[in-house]
Amino acid sequence: MHNAAFRSLDMDWVYVPFPVRPEKLGRAVRGLEALNVRGVNVTIPHKEAVIEYVDELHETASLIGAVNTLEFDDGTVRGYNTDADGCLRALEEVTSVRNSSVLILGAGGAARACAFRLALAGASGILILNRTPERAHSLAGDIWEKLGFDVSSGGYDLIPEAAVDADIIIDTTPVGMHPHTDDEALVTAELMHEGMVVYDLVYNPVRTVLLREAEKASAVPVSGLKMLVYQGAESFRIWTGRKAPVDVMEEAVLEGLWRKD
Ligand code: NAP
Repeated sequence: MHNAAFRSLDMDWVYVPFPVRPEKLGRAVRGLEALNVRGVNVTIPHKEAVIEYVDELHETASLIGAVNTLEFDDGTVRGYNTDADGCLRALEEVTSVRNSSVLILGAGGAARACAFRLALAGASGILILNRTPERAHSLAGDIWEKLGFDVSSGGYDLIPEAAVDADIIIDTTPVGMHPHTDDEALVTAELMHEGMVVYDLVYNPVRTVLLREAEKASAVPVSGLKMLVYQGAESFRIWTGRKAPVDVMEEAVLEGLWRKD
């Protein structure tokens, strides 16, 4: 999606993958900086460990404890978390997060980025439910400690009563992700209502089993494709100082997904 964006804006830039072994992470970051690379995305398994090599950590990245974007600026290495902004922007396109009650399913890295960002954006309430409830409790405790925002937490047994009261449901688990497209959705249509926003972070397929349930209930489905594109758009802005051509980027991701299938 970045190369498509560069092409569409006639920019002589290129985005390439660099597989890096964990024991070489520090040397890789310093090497990229020495080579005058403008920036990189950082992904699994380096998002937390890379913080050690960052000179200036952006506030959201510091709260979340994970970095997905590095910017190299005249010897300074800056770390950002654009997943968090991508998560929020996709939601804000269809609803206002402020004063909404949000149910988050899952308590891994993506849930962490979304939960912190939504707490900062003024959600009225956040409930995190996870297969392993202890991880949900631990994330809720961390948000309380860092932001003084009281998040509730528990296991999936609470889904039926929690879903009914939510304005927004965010599924941050891999349930329904290709090739497991016929998984059973964690929340089914009977527990949803008209106008509720149902956001699945899975982006392959674009129309997941959860989003099909949302359609049945006349809820508002939001695909993880949006978060993927918007986190990319924010990284693009950080590196280039220019507004990202999000339509071009979304089209490039869709084309890539079709080619993969
Ligand atoms: P992660 O750190 O491994 O967390 C996965 C979470 O899902 C954990 O809470 C896990 O529960 C739960 N889970 C896993 N398998 C499950 C199952 N079969 N049933 C119910 N719950 C299950 O992963 P992550 O990095 O947060 O990513 C999670 C998903 O989000 C992936 O599908 C990823 O592709 C997607 N994602 C999308 C974007 C985007 O831009 N759209 C960005 C980031 C991630 P336990 O704690 O019990 O293991």
